[in-house]
Amino acid sequence: MKILVVNCGSSSLKYQLINMENESLLAKGLVERIGIEGSVLTHKPEGKDKVVIEHPMKDHKDAIKLVLDALTDKNHGVISDMSEISAVGHRVVHGGEKYSSSILIDDDIMKVLEECSRLAPLHNPPNLIGINACKALMPNTPMVAVFDTAFHQSMPDYAYMYALPYELYEKYGIRRYGFHGTSHRYVSKIAAEQLGKDIKDCKIITCHLGNGASVAAVLNGKSVDTSMGFTPLEGLVMGTRCGDIDPAIVTFLQDEANLSSKEVNNVMNKKSGVLGLSGVSSDFRDVEDAAAKGNKKAKLALDVFYYRVKKYIGAYAAAMGGVDAIVFTAGLGENSPEARYETCKGLEFLGVKIDEEKNKVRGKLTEVSTADSKVKVYLIPTNEELMIARDTMDIVRK
Ligand code: ADP
Repeated sequence: MKILVVNCGSSSLKYQLINMENESLLAKGLVERIGIEGSVLTHKPEGKDKVVIEHPMKDHKDAIKLVLDALTDKNHGVISDMSEISAVGHRVVHGGEKYSSSILIDDDIMKVLEECSRLAPLHNPPNLIGINACKALMPNTPMVAVFDTAFHQSMPDYAYMYALPYELYEKYGIRRYGFHGTSHRYVSKIAAEQLGKDIKDCKIITCHLGNGASVAAVLNGKSVDTSMGFTPLEGLVMGTRCGDIDPAIVTFLQDEANLSSKEVNNVMNKKSGVLGLSGVSSDFRDVEDAAAKGNKKAKLALDVFYYRVKKYIGAYAAAMGGVDAIVFTAGLGENSPEARYETCKGLEFLGVKIDEEKNKVRGKLTEVSTADSKVKVYLIPTNEELMIARDTMDIVRK
């Protein structure tokens, strides 16, 4: 069975075609500048050179059409006909409180997904546009939605409720939802395998540290808390997002700095995080380089970032009554020995001991703790696309 995984942004589209017989990647690619001048598709068939196709694309349907053409092309294609694609798995950011697992898409589901757009106005609408575009071009191919929020629907009410008037939850759905669920689910499963234990007997803290970053407490295979909240702004310091701040800062900025709600939102989402603190970049590589060269603000940005992750690890160990394993994943978690080391430094009292030699590794599944570390620390590369493909296959087979 071959499954196409699609992740649609407002002007971009990422895809992977996966052969589920052996879970191997057949091709992957990225479409950029959809609906903007200079639309381009970068298509990478496995084992062959990438091809860059510049072609006007007025909308996502044009983009999907071009992707399907590339996948079936005589020279750089990997399948002979579109009918070889058994199903399409779509990444959907927000499933609200409706979905605690992935789901086969039908007309009723589309209506609910449209309602969920209210909760994720930046992310869900492009996801839905992608689904509609695929449906138009592949009307007989089953489509599955895999939600970023679904894995966290198992959180207990005392973890997902904010101490705001209860009516705001009832009226607007204001609560913690959590994101990156597909990644937290994938790496926690692998961590349990590495521990050689049934995931139903594991206390795992997963740190997804990329441009967007979040931590999750995974108790017995279920998410019981996570750092992102009503939106992906809460929690850790990120590339450009502030994470946790005193909520009174929002009204202070409106009243004292005369910023509109849109402007405050823009500051918190786009101008804060390690970019805002360092003034250097939102990319951790640049900030690490600047700090190594003596830039004090860059060093401060990293210190604030590591300290926040460490605090969440401590909090989640408390929430679960202990921890068996800590996992680092995503761009920074997989590639920065420094980030893993600095985050775990000082957690020896919990039984966490990093092996500095083993920790000198990038992008490869590795146990980076010492042999006598009570808590195991792992680098586990995430693979959200594979998780989406697995869910899609399971649902289609049923
Ligand atoms: P997202 O999917 O949220 O865009 P990624 O998981 O791809 O993010 O992570 C991207 C981030 O990972 C980059 O912004 C960069 O800061 C960080 N990163 C990638 N490689 C390295 C590296 N070698 N050293 C330090 N940071 C890295």
